[in-house]
Amino acid sequence: MPEQKNPKYHLITYGCQMNKNDSERAAALLRGIGFSPTVRPEEADFILINTCSVRQTAEDRVYGQMKHFARLRARKPRLLLGVTGCMPGRDRDGKLSAKLPMIDFFFPIADLPQLPRWIAEHEPTLVQLTDAPEDYLKISPARQTSRQAFVTIQTGCNKFCTYCVVPFARGLEKNRPLAEILSEICVLAEQGCVEVTLLGQTINSYRAPDSDNFSSTNPYFSTGSRVAARDAMSSTGHFAALLWEVNQVPGIERVHFTAPHPIHMTAEVIDALALPKQVKFLHLPVQSGSNEILRRMNRRYTREEYLELVRRIREKVPDIALGTDIIVGFSGETEEQFEETVELYRQADFDIAYIAQYSPRSGTAASRAFPDTVSREEKKRRWNILQKLMEETVLRKNQFLAGKTVRVLVESVDERGVAEGNCEYMKRVRFSSSTDHRSPTTTGDLVEVAIMLAREWVLDGKLV
Ligand code: SF4
Repeated sequence: MPEQKNPKYHLITYGCQMNKNDSERAAALLRGIGFSPTVRPEEADFILINTCSVRQTAEDRVYGQMKHFARLRARKPRLLLGVTGCMPGRDRDGKLSAKLPMIDFFFPIADLPQLPRWIAEHEPTLVQLTDAPEDYLKISPARQTSRQAFVTIQTGCNKFCTYCVVPFARGLEKNRPLAEILSEICVLAEQGCVEVTLLGQTINSYRAPDSDNFSSTNPYFSTGSRVAARDAMSSTGHFAALLWEVNQVPGIERVHFTAPHPIHMTAEVIDALALPKQVKFLHLPVQSGSNEILRRMNRRYTREEYLELVRRIREKVPDIALGTDIIVGFSGETEEQFEETVELYRQADFDIAYIAQYSPRSGTAASRAFPDTVSREEKKRRWNILQKLMEETVLRKNQFLAGKTVRVLVESVDERGVAEGNCEYMKRVRFSSSTDHRSPTTTGDLVEVAIMLAREWVLDGKLV
């Protein structure tokens, strides 16, 4: 059969930053076997959706889209369709794939290296087979920008919060070797990357499988015999030590990570938040302010312990911006228990929160053990209360930055010359890209900006 010239793929990504990083790996793999990307599904020879299972609506969207693509295939019979990510990962009983009979490949992301072979088996004319690494994390992601990069250091999760599908969708916690992570970051820095965001589901539980590779000068790596030190290091010691190593990489100016779990926020990790290249932002999911709800969620901390953590974090980095995740209307949540969450929000004085209305997910312990008793209207009402509180708080908290100078990594400059990017507090900053005194700033620059006016969702400033 003649080889098809320039086959195209169309890749759709839902969900978190880790899914986006996984899609960058899928893109690299597909390019490696001769595909090029297209934003137009009707032009594609292969359509792949990288799915999220956190909410039912995210899965419903995939069913709808795949029905549409199946109609496209009626006109283009050799079109291949694939689904990866959380949906296949959690589909132990085959019920989800049964709803997608039109799909050619339905696979968890860890099976990504098999994809070229499967495509070749279906359509031998489409691909030029090359060797793919066995571990999908060893595939170098095809990143969209050279100045910022996501670096996955851990996949899966051992925590089994009762509402969450991640341990089923992504499996148990698996940590990448330190040497592999540092080598990836060094290459990124040589290519001009200045900001890395380390990714993991409970990132601060990271434990290096090759801890001998920590530098002897690493302050979070105890002195004395290497073996003794390795044994003595707690897993959170490993994460603080990793942050220190990343802080030493020449060229990297900003280090960010997400998402830590409160129970692994030990003294070493809190100390490492003050390392010179760390951003002044921490996203620390709390989920609820009620001890009873936290217990039923299997979060393994109390509201008092969480608030004490916030106090210690602010003691170490007084101006740090704090973000969180909250679920309202979890099974059986009473008005009083919701009020405890509102009270905790005030006490923690968060800068930002991602507030979700609870939706039971099949296969989770919560969906089996606790009935979904809070009505949809009541969940929405509670969501509105917290959302309003966040909007009031965020404006007040942003005003703290008015008159201060921050460093902004420029992500875009529009046709009017207005530049935008995040500062070290991970807040959006907008400013004119040119001044009388210097050449205009462009995308990728790291520049100092004086904040003139703080608004809810953007800080207006001017180049220093
Ligand atoms: S810590 Fe809990 S919420 Fe986070 S990924 Fe693990 S099980 Fe899910």
